[in-house]
Amino acid sequence: MGSFSQDFPFGIMDVVELLHLHIRRRQADSAYTDCPFCGDRRGKMNVNFVKNVWRCNYCGEHGGMLNLYARVNNTTNSEAYREICDALQAGDTSWGYGEAESTDAYAGGPSREPHAGSRPDTGIPQAERAGPQEIHQTYSLLMEMLSLTSTHRAHLRSEKRGLSDEQIDSLGFKSTPPYFLCRSLTDRLIKQGCRVEGVPGFYLHEGGYWTAKFSSRTAGILIPAVGIDGLIHGMQILLDVPFKDKDDPPEKAGTKYIWLSSSAKNMGVTSGSPVHFIGNPFARTIYVTEGILKADIAHVLLNRSFVAVAGANNVAQLGPLFELLAQNGTELIIEAHDMDKYSNEMIAKGSSRIYLLARQQGMECRRLTWNPNYKGIDDWQLALRREKQQKEGEGQNPQKGKALFCQEGKGLSVGLLDFPHRRYRFRIYQLCFDAGQETIPFAFKGIRDLHKAGYEQPPASEYRLVCDSELACPEEWKDTEILEQISAHYGNQVPEGYRGRPLASSDVVELDDGTGRRYFYIDGRTFEPVRFSPFLVKK
Ligand SMILES: [Zn+2]
Repeated sequence: MGSFSQDFPFGIMDVVELLHLHIRRRQADSAYTDCPFCGDRRGKMNVNFVKNVWRCNYCGEHGGMLNLYARVNNTTNSEAYREICDALQAGDTSWGYGEAESTDAYAGGPSREPHAGSRPDTGIPQAERAGPQEIHQTYSLLMEMLSLTSTHRAHLRSEKRGLSDEQIDSLGFKSTPPYFLCRSLTDRLIKQGCRVEGVPGFYLHEGGYWTAKFSSRTAGILIPAVGIDGLIHGMQILLDVPFKDKDDPPEKAGTKYIWLSSSAKNMGVTSGSPVHFIGNPFARTIYVTEGILKADIAHVLLNRSFVAVAGANNVAQLGPLFELLAQNGTELIIEAHDMDKYSNEMIAKGSSRIYLLARQQGMECRRLTWNPNYKGIDDWQLALRREKQQKEGEGQNPQKGKALFCQEGKGLSVGLLDFPHRRYRFRIYQLCFDAGQETIPFAFKGIRDLHKAGYEQPPASEYRLVCDSELACPEEWKDTEILEQISAHYGNQVPEGYRGRPLASSDVVELDDGTGRRYFYIDGRTFEPVRFSPFLVKK
């Protein structure tokens, strides 16, 4: 237990965590972090967790662990000692060291050989992973002891998640327990004959007792990862407050999901990143998506069978699972990753690995694409359900003060209009994903992402024309009103005969009222005037 000095109930890495210092690299006995004194952001500060000392190789500042905390907080060493103890006792820390752990970094996923010894980068002794049955038994009993808070239930019932009470209960979601219950819960599990050594999330406390790694910082909803064998192989936590790096820009969402793991702890064990399965193991068609909760929600909405990986590139364990599915009679794998797959190369790479793995087992693989206004398959399905419910409630309203659209293949019958109107020609251009070019960095994103990708104007050569039509609208209408009507008309349920995708961010709309053509880049609900050269578009 190198990181605990004899006189202190904590180590320098606890201080690093309390101060939220960014860890850039790790070695056997030390880590490199950013320096809070000179502001270096390249990881020049060496933190030695065997000796509990630190030194910045850039500005030369150095000292012991109390001194590190005291100087950052402008206080004395004895005050620092008291504050650190308080914070640690309140469970304000102790989630690994820094970021949620990278799921691929350490060996030890459930499908691999159990591995014991020390974690290669920190030297912290690790337990040998318990067997799948033992892990399942411990997790099942733990879940039975826990409850779901009303706040968490309300979140799962909200429009965003759309689950019913029955579904929530049958999927087995629970709230994480508070820090002060960890030891007694673990005691109860041991008394009931469960093994906790080697079960991710449990570890041997320096006080000589076993406990679990829950804390206020990692509070949230516990989501079981269930294998195709029906056993719980791991637990994810949907965090109440996402982890954010203090240097992150405000628009960055932060880490929302972490695994329940204890690999940063004495005699702990890594979670690995088990694959989740929900549905019928003998289904002919199986969907693959990223995220356990997403798969659970999509399963109840679509009544299809889903495999969930924890990250788009976390596909190593899909190989053995696909082999089993192929033997069970599965013929088709449908990749249903988030629509980011068209802009994010990492996700696109993950998708193509799924294709490969499926073909190796003689299964067909298809990519599922949907209305790009919705990021995940769950968001899309929930939107469809809401739309259906709204329609049922509304009935048909006569269209007054709305634009009249030309029907496919027919002229505009303006004779029906009883108000002074004007005719507009409009065209819709959408990004074209050819073979060999699977991602475009600003696909389905706003104008800022277009600029970030290095374009001042939308590159017409990446687009193709999907609609060339006419509409009539009240004379006094401005461009924005017309564009809003076009968005509504082509945004969700597209008209029959329309060749494009539902209108979404990164599409370009051309308006032509006879006085000149104007172009607009769609950015959510706003329309940015842009320059565009239609003669460059793909044929
Ligand atoms: Zn420095």
